[in-house]
Amino acid sequence: MKVNHKDRIEKIGRSSYPVRVLGFVLFSLSLYLFVAKQDLKLDLWQMTGIIFALIYPHLAYLRYLKTKSREVELQHMLFDMGLQGVMTALVNFNPIIALPFLISSSAANYALRGVNQSLKGVMLAIITATLTGLLLNKEIILDAKPFEMIAPNLYLIVVMHYMAYIAYIRGVVLVRNRKKAETLAQLDFLTGLDNRRSMFDQVKLNDEKRQTDCATTTVIMIDLDHFKELNDKYGHDHGDNILILISDMLKNSIRETDLVARWGGEEFLLLLPNTNNEQGFKIAETIRNKIAKHNFIYNDIELNITATFGIASYNIKSNFEETIKSADKALYAGKQKGRNCVVLATNE
Ligand code: GH3
Ligand code: MG
Ligand code: MG
Repeated sequence: MKVNHKDRIEKIGRSSYPVRVLGFVLFSLSLYLFVAKQDLKLDLWQMTGIIFALIYPHLAYLRYLKTKSREVELQHMLFDMGLQGVMTALVNFNPIIALPFLISSSAANYALRGVNQSLKGVMLAIITATLTGLLLNKEIILDAKPFEMIAPNLYLIVVMHYMAYIAYIRGVVLVRNRKKAETLAQLDFLTGLDNRRSMFDQVKLNDEKRQTDCATTTVIMIDLDHFKELNDKYGHDHGDNILILISDMLKNSIRETDLVARWGGEEFLLLLPNTNNEQGFKIAETIRNKIAKHNFIYNDIELNITATFGIASYNIKSNFEETIKSADKALYAGKQKGRNCVVLATNE
């Protein structure tokens, strides 16, 4: 089954739930082990802290489900740090236990809303830790046994990898969307042919190859005849449909190495690499005949369309823009001659 990365990203609010549950279970366990190691029993505050830490993630999730709001989730992320500040004081500010939790939460806040959110979280943790420490008169204990490091570091590993996973998926979606946007920007919306911009890109590629083999490229400019009349008589929709049918016809009439683009309204451009103007003329004649003989049917109306073709070629000595101008001139001459014809440019 294909994984939809985008869906996954939209579910971040949901997926922070198990991470939060895990975090507070591990912090509670760390607090318990810290107290047990000293052969002490949990006092009322520590008990209350653990019970709250075990209940809070579920309450946060229910609140998130009610609102489905990212803002609410961001508030919870800050609250996480506040509560972790309290728990930091409850483990007597032991950095080996508390720091991995605080670092994970601060980094998660940073990842979701930037440096301000992260700083707010850190401030909250400092305030709640200080107040709890003062209120309960907590002394600072710095040492910890190796087994006490397991739970905090496990959480650090989980959160860091979860965030790396999210960053990776975001990257994949971004690249995919960029590629999609680039492809769409190269296509003509109506006909699905390459657009003028795409043709320029392809010409650049073709020119790079041409530098080495010095081959001639032929350009054929095609303009449909009396298209305004067709629009006026049968409507714009009808005109659009004819443009789509002509586009399909052009696509099917060229070789794999040739290119066709919608150059403008009812103008198309063919780019024929490794083709001189005599060969181009033959190809243009074939296409011209094909169009002229075809019955274009839309909404039960049968129409005959003709097009005029201007041809120009270029090799290493001339460039694409000049050739387009020559092809355009030839096309204009064809219109003057009475349309439905192919004219070769004279000044190459
Ligand atoms: P000529 O034989 O001299 O080329 O005459 P023409 O009517 O084809 O040329 P003109 O440049 O006067 O008009 C081009 C027309 O093409 C005008 C416009 O209504 C039509 N056209 C341009 N783009 C579109 C389009 O996307 N859809 C439709 N239906 N018509 C379009
Ligand atoms: Mg035109
Ligand atoms: Mg026209």
